[in-house]
Amino acid sequence: MDSSKKSLPYNVLQEYLETLAEPGGQPDRRKVLFSYAELQYKLHGGGRCSMCRSAVRYVLPVRAEHNDGTIAEYVCLCTRCLEGEKAVSARITLTIGNNVVDYSPRRRDPGAAPNKSKAGGAR
Ligand SMILES: [Zn+2]
Repeated sequence: MDSSKKSLPYNVLQEYLETLAEPGGQPDRRKVLFSYAELQYKLHGGGRCSMCRSAVRYVLPVRAEHNDGTIAEYVCLCTRCLEGEKAVSARITLTIGNNVVDYSPRRRDPGAAPNKSKAGGAR
């Protein structure tokens, strides 16, 4: 583990920039997000999930605004816990440097599928 090297491997940086420069308009923010996370992974390695402590490849700070109004913040979450948070959250944001990227669950038409019963309880 040599974390003293700070210079970016050229091919990784190239990949990142290519992802940013999507042809035909707006870069896909999630792509940017994950390519950034991938970059961090390649540079610094992964982390551990704040909830279940399993190994996490993409270390991104997560802020979850739950349906009940509470807010939870995590240093990073594994895919499974992130999906779990998505299930009970009105809004999920991931922080990349100074950027906050909306990672909310797929939007449903309000009222299209009323979800009255709480399907949480993953404790
Ligand atoms: Zn987890």
